[in-house]
Amino acid sequence: GATLGVLGGGQLGRMFVHAAQTMGYFTAVLDPDADSPAGRVSHHHIHTDYTDVDGLARLAGLADAVTTEFENVPAPSLAHLATARPVSPGADAVAIAQDRIREKSHFVRCGVECAPYAVIETDEQLAAVADELLPGILKTARLGYDGKGQRRVATRAELQAAWHDAGDVPCVLEQLLPLDFECSVIVARGEDGQMVNFPVQRNLHRDGILAVTEVHPHNMPESTARRAVAAARSIADGLAYVGVLCVEFFVLGDGRLVVNEMAPRPHNSGHWTVDASDVSQFELQVRTLAGLPLNPPRQHSVAIMLNLLGDLWFVDGETPQEPRWADVLALPGTHLHLYGKTEARRGRKMGHLNITGDGIETVRSTADFAAALLGLAIPLSE
Ligand code: ATP
Ligand code: MG
Ligand code: MG
Repeated sequence: GATLGVLGGGQLGRMFVHAAQTMGYFTAVLDPDADSPAGRVSHHHIHTDYTDVDGLARLAGLADAVTTEFENVPAPSLAHLATARPVSPGADAVAIAQDRIREKSHFVRCGVECAPYAVIETDEQLAAVADELLPGILKTARLGYDGKGQRRVATRAELQAAWHDAGDVPCVLEQLLPLDFECSVIVARGEDGQMVNFPVQRNLHRDGILAVTEVHPHNMPESTARRAVAAARSIADGLAYVGVLCVEFFVLGDGRLVVNEMAPRPHNSGHWTVDASDVSQFELQVRTLAGLPLNPPRQHSVAIMLNLLGDLWFVDGETPQEPRWADVLALPGTHLHLYGKTEARRGRKMGHLNITGDGIETVRSTADFAAALLGLAIPLSE
């Protein structure tokens, strides 16, 4: 049988491997960690650095096509692999998604509004920042995730200090927007340009990390959902993207839709698709990589996803303790996903709980119940 390769061995890679294996593929995972969540469940595991040319050659030798699950995988490694094997998404699209400056230019090029912002790469640009961008959020152009590499700044003095603290690296300053709520759209696009999308996901973040995703027919005004899907599709088309792409949006108090950022891979906000959609985001990643047809996904259940961070292991004290899953699994419609990470740490993504059902009221009350059992404080959206 054919073998599909993936750069990165985290939970996204693990769920990709599960989907690939279901469809009869062998898998090969490249990750620097000898005991990664995906490496552990894969047929082949290459334990080396993402830039190691020998490791990349071994991956190309094993795999018929290669994808990535790790946002910050060096784009040159993808380009290098692409000389030997089909690689999706491509190095160019990934490089744009990895750099907030290039990413925002792409959004502007596609005619999708983003937060007012300024590029800060020099002292002159720092001094020239417009007053209306404050208060704002200073974000490093590269390598941030889960709100890392970001600082809220209220004054010019704070902005200057934050930029210097970041090491004077290229940054963007974004105006701090009054968010009504956040949402995301996941699309999958094939080589031939055919594109399908999942319904718009309503997301709740806590301390810069995704906490809850809700997907049901009335999770936001219909016109908002329509605009978000159209924007995500035009962003993917503009990149001639191949693979699964997630686009994150802000919805402001006045109803305006503003694009935040994109992830060139399946996304945490799409984990509900494994239990509540006839096709999951990981199956679509397999299909786009293998050049298989794409069918529009059909959501068959209302879904809420609760992220399970390492903090839940510490609700009873300083010694990590496995939460009492059996209590939660006694609730109807609960689906537990754990990533097989051996060490629980605060803020670390350990797993998620999908809750599915026929109607949002039931699903929401089950989610509230599960959260209470786990000691998870989640203000669910109305
Ligand atoms: P990840 O890639 O894990 O989603 P990240 O580190 O790339 O996170 P962002 O998505 O840019 O970070 O921001 C994290 C969160 O911070 C957003 O989901 C939002 O809640 C808040 N935030 C970011 N930018 C703004 C803004 N301009 N105005 C208001 N809130 C913002
Ligand atoms: Mg990000
Ligand atoms: Mg984000």
